[in-house]
Amino acid sequence: PVDINVLADEYMRLAYHGLRAKDKEFNAALTTDFDGTIGKVKVLPQDLGRVFLNLFTNAFYAVAEKKRKLAANGGETDYRPEVKISTKKFDNTLYIRVTDNGTGIPEHVKAKIFQPFFTTKPTGQGTGLGLSMSYDIVTNAHGGTLDVESVPGESTVFKISLPVT
Ligand code: ADP
Ligand code: MG
Repeated sequence: PVDINVLADEYMRLAYHGLRAKDKEFNAALTTDFDGTIGKVKVLPQDLGRVFLNLFTNAFYAVAEKKRKLAANGGETDYRPEVKISTKKFDNTLYIRVTDNGTGIPEHVKAKIFQPFFTTKPTGQGTGLGLSMSYDIVTNAHGGTLDVESVPGESTVFKISLPVT
């Protein structure tokens, strides 16, 4: 049994500090909104940890990319990168959301993001396997769902639901 809130928090920090180690300039506000009533749930921690790592790594990349683009288009901005995780348990289902205010995902890209090897990142920066692997873990290994909503240029939210007993 795993405390999802602790797992999510650890992987968010792991992804953040991993990126900071490579790019000292990078920063983002990390926000958590945890349901304290969840308790421990039966999931595979390594698998779910991998999903979190993928989603957070993508989120941090998206906010860093947005910052770069804004800077390239005129220098100073008041853009504040932000990545959020929230958890909620309701009727034997666990709802997890990872939200960022980064680049967003255009519709024509969104159609392909769960396909293996699909990436919009430069060579060497992405394998295109993160989301297809995450989808497989959440749906096939845990019987849950993984969905995305995005406003291009504004924000993206990945939504996980997991059946728990
Ligand atoms: P990779 O990160 O190696 O490119 P993924 O499977 O993790 O592969 O993601 C596939 C693509 O989905 C990314 O290249 C990017 O275009 C898009 N994407 C995923 N997460 C986000 C996000 N939070 N914001 C914007 N685009 C995203
Ligand atoms: Mg990725």
